Amino acid sequence: MNKPIIMFDMDGTLLDLAFDDLIWNHKLPERHALTHKCSLEQSRATLYEFYQEHKHTLSWYSSNYWTSKVGVDVLKLQYEFQDKIAPRQGCFELLDHLKQQGYRCWLMTNADLASLNLKLENVNLRHYFEVIVSSEEIGYSKEFIEFWQIVQEKYPFDPAQTFLIDDTAPVLQGAGKFGIENLITILQPSTLNAPRNALELNYPAIQNLTELEPYLDQYQKEFNAKTA
Ligand SMILES: [Mg+2]
Repeated sequence: MNKPIIMFDMDGTLLDLAFDDLIWNHKLPERHALTHKCSLEQSRATLYEFYQEHKHTLSWYSSNYWTSKVGVDVLKLQYEFQDKIAPRQGCFELLDHLKQQGYRCWLMTNADLASLNLKLENVNLRHYFEVIVSSEEIGYSKEFIEFWQIVQEKYPFDPAQTFLIDDTAPVLQGAGKFGIENLITILQPSTLNAPRNALELNYPAIQNLTELEPYLDQYQKEFNAKTA
C-alpha cells in the first residue's frame, strides 16, 4: 500500500506555541526594556514595529537577527525558559501511531537551526522523522514556493501524495501553490490563546493531533479506489 508522506510544522503544530508567545510577546519586551532602560510600553511598540516589518521573512525566524536588532540575546533567553517547551495534545500518540503504521514523517520548520536544536533537546521528537528541514538551510521561509521547490530538489517527494499539517495560513497557501494537496491546520496553536473559529479557517482544522488519523484513512480509501 502506497502511503503519503506526512510533513509537520513544529511550533504551534507539534509543540505548544505558548512557549514562543512567552518568549516573544512577554519576556523579550521585558528584557528589551531592561536593556535599553525604557518603559515596557515603549519596548512593546518598538518590537511590534519590527515584528510587522519582518513577519514571514527568514529574518523573523532568526535568533541571530533578533539578537543584533534588539540587543538582547534571544537564544539565551529561550534557553532560560526551556522548561516551558511542551508538546501539543496528541503529539506523541499520533507520531507513535504513524511510526507503527509505517508512514514517513518529515519535520519542516521555519525555526532557525539553533532554535530547532533547543526544541529537540527538550522534546524527544528527532527519531520520528526521516527528514528534518529548517528554512534557514533552504534560504526561504515556508511561505514561499521556492522553499518547497528547493526541498523537493534535495528530498524528492510527490506533492499530490503529501500531507502538510501547519498552524500558519500563509505557509499552507505557499505549500498549496506549490502543489501539496492535503493541507490541515491547527485549531489552537497556543494554549495561552483561545481556539480559533474553525469556520473562519481556510483549511480543515484539528485540535488533538490524533484527529489527523481519520483524514489519513479517508485519503487511503480514495487512493485505493483510484488505483483499484
Ligand atoms: Mg507553526
